[in-house]
Amino acid sequence: RHLLTRIQQLDNSYNSFITVTEELALSQAEAADRHLASGEAPALCGVPIAHKDIICTNGVRTSCASKMLDNFIPPYDATLVENLNAAGTVTLGKTNMDEFAMGSSSESSYYGSVKNPWNTRCVPGGSSGGSAAAVAALLVPGATATDTGGSIRQPAALTNTTGLKPTYGRISRWGIVAYASSLDQAGPIARNAEDAAYLLSAMASHDSKDSTSLDCPQTDFTAELNNSIAGLKIGVPREYFGEGLNAETAARVQAALKEFEKLGAQLVDISLPHTELAIPAYYVIAPAEASANLSRFDGVRYGHRCITPKDLRDLYRRSRGEGFGEEVQRRILVGTYALSAGYYDAYYNKAQQVRRLIKQDFVQAFEQVDVIMGPTTPSPAFELGAKVADPVAMYLEDIYTIATNLAGLPGMSIPCGLVNNMPVGLQITGNYLNEARMLNIAHQYQ
Ligand code: GLN
Repeated sequence: RHLLTRIQQLDNSYNSFITVTEELALSQAEAADRHLASGEAPALCGVPIAHKDIICTNGVRTSCASKMLDNFIPPYDATLVENLNAAGTVTLGKTNMDEFAMGSSSESSYYGSVKNPWNTRCVPGGSSGGSAAAVAALLVPGATATDTGGSIRQPAALTNTTGLKPTYGRISRWGIVAYASSLDQAGPIARNAEDAAYLLSAMASHDSKDSTSLDCPQTDFTAELNNSIAGLKIGVPREYFGEGLNAETAARVQAALKEFEKLGAQLVDISLPHTELAIPAYYVIAPAEASANLSRFDGVRYGHRCITPKDLRDLYRRSRGEGFGEEVQRRILVGTYALSAGYYDAYYNKAQQVRRLIKQDFVQAFEQVDVIMGPTTPSPAFELGAKVADPVAMYLEDIYTIATNLAGLPGMSIPCGLVNNMPVGLQITGNYLNEARMLNIAHQYQ
């Protein structure tokens, strides 16, 4: 009730929620009370959380921040929601985001921009900007989010929160509206690594309903938090400290690296030579997959349908034209083009080859080091509207985060200081399935 009141009083300023599920929250909280009284409470019994509005929730509208799904009420929960419900969490609502998770500022939502609680003239990052802002504004202690090219880590960096994108396949994608299926991965945004570890432990599971779900044993990600990090080898990629990185952001990240040295870690200069190809490869692969995934929104099966269509073609054209925003339409056009006969080899296949080179860079790096660290974003939060007219400037926000998705690796962003009173994030990239180690490293620093 305290948090529901806080949301009601404060969220007008942040717009971090699309839907507040008061009734559901109160009934789940009552159930949690009964569980606690019975003495057999599950791990997260009574912990209030929110879900990004791309994640299906039974009986609760899941809009993906799009007019297209403004009226979509899923008849089932995503696997990760089922898992969290089983762990006892209380759902306060659904968080705002970029439409269909395409963006880095949470400005493309059909329900209006999200504002950064650190300065409401600035963006909170995106696409999971609502989840990050809600955690930063203390409206909720943790929230779910998704990351296709940086959408957990970049908003976490810009709002002083801790965000973790697990290894691809660690958390089931079943029930998450698909953006780019070979890159999409859900994860938690929380106040610190310990809380993120609790959430991840509940969210991750093997799921036969997602064919890319990894068959890993159920893991307690809090178990190694207190281990020493003496002797840890931290790779610092040269390419992440070059042109385009704001000098004060670089200084905060360097200061954090020094702290790790004090904790007994060793810094190793490394190279990820194909770094500059990550954005071009991503902006072929992600739109290509998106154009295929979003073909299901045809005005027939579900979602927005135009009024009085003349014929079938008019139904498709107007339903999609009216339902999708500008950035979503741009991605569908780019993706459809890249996949067309005659262009497939030149663009899509080439991008997949580049993706392999990028993955190889990490394989080689992890032969020398345990984790990789650098900035999460090139600079702190920018002002609302500053990059709306320039999609390429917006795409460059993810210059340090996208390669992690292309390689399927786990990545995380943790707070590492302020520049002009705005938060800066430190990015930690781990080896495959090495989330527990990353959380341990983050916890030791925090
Ligand atoms: N900003 C990137 C994009 O627009 C990444 C978004 C995401 O991770 N969902 O595609």
